[in-house]
Amino acid sequence: MTTPASTAHQPHGFGVTAETLTPTELDLKVLSAQLGRTVRDVVEIPARCVCGNPLVAATAPRLANGSPFPTTFYLAHPVITAAASRLEAEGAMYEMTDEVTDDESKAAAYRGAHENYLAERERIRVKAGLEEVPEIEGVSAGGMPTRVKCLHAVLGHTLAVGRGINPYGDATLDLIAEWWTPETCHCDPAWRD
Ligand SMILES: [Zn+2]
Repeated sequence: MTTPASTAHQPHGFGVTAETLTPTELDLKVLSAQLGRTVRDVVEIPARCVCGNPLVAATAPRLANGSPFPTTFYLAHPVITAAASRLEAEGAMYEMTDEVTDDESKAAAYRGAHENYLAERERIRVKAGLEEVPEIEGVSAGGMPTRVKCLHAVLGHTLAVGRGINPYGDATLDLIAEWWTPETCHCDPAWRD
């Protein structure tokens, strides 16, 4: 017999459990402070800092204003986004894209990440009670499945679903260790004020 508990989504993101996926008022306040704008359309908090603050906002695939929104796992923490931007300024995504192009096993893993992203978006869509979003059908994020264009997108994916799904989100997480790791809080206490 299937119980509701066994059919519920079991999260694998950093710092979350099934009980902490749902955004609280404080989460929305912190996200708004992190991003410098009022956040809307947040369906889940799929990754959290060790202190409990959100790292990623799982965002509805269609915003309340009607716009399609492909970046389901939106990286919000400014220390992490700055670290990813630093790697992008160094051109880290070009080497990754060369690898996807040349290495069939990496390419296959990255296609799997793309499929996972689309499946997660579909789960979020259903959870949000939205109709299908044909404008972004088959389109994931970050350049998947054949290019690595946005390290924020692939890193947001890894933080939201855990390691072992997105090889370039995993690689980006390793590369930012100098500035941020999942074990250490780099949050600004003012975000909660
Ligand atoms: Zn923190």
